[in-house]
Amino acid sequence: MSADDCIFCKIAAGELPSQPVDSDERTVAFMDINPWTRGHALVIPRQHSKNLYEIEPADLDATMRAAQRLAKRMRDSLDCDGVNLLNSCEAAAWQTVFHFHVHVIPRFDDDPLRLPGAPRDPEEGELAEVAAELRA
Ligand code: 5GP
Ligand code: ZN
Repeated sequence: MSADDCIFCKIAAGELPSQPVDSDERTVAFMDINPWTRGHALVIPRQHSKNLYEIEPADLDATMRAAQRLAKRMRDSLDCDGVNLLNSCEAAAWQTVFHFHVHVIPRFDDDPLRLPGAPRDPEEGELAEVAAELRA
């Protein structure tokens, strides 16, 4: 997907409607159209990049700072009990919109969200083996 047919580029440019909640020179934050909890928002860089692999460091910094700002606002304005940040990189990791974004999801003690995966015991030697692969 190019920047030309990217829905988040169009939202950032004001060419598609959204419910904005914050913006600065590099970023825009707006409500997710299908919220997981009340207040679920997305923070994006104004400049198109596909995902975590490709985003410019300055845009990544600005997006994470904006996510922190929004998380604190959720704590103070929505009285949430916690916040999840979520980023998905590539389809295998559930990315569906290919313009980098961070989900900022306010959490409430009684909300219905549950972890999508179950922690497991590693195979024999797995941790040392994979750590060596990552260090190489
Ligand atoms: P992903 O699955 O890529 O991590 O997240 C994409 C998110 O974008 C989803 O949570 C989805 O609900 C949201 N989304 C998709 N299309 C639109 C749209 O047109 N407007 C807004 N505000 N959110 C959208
Ligand atoms: Zn885009």
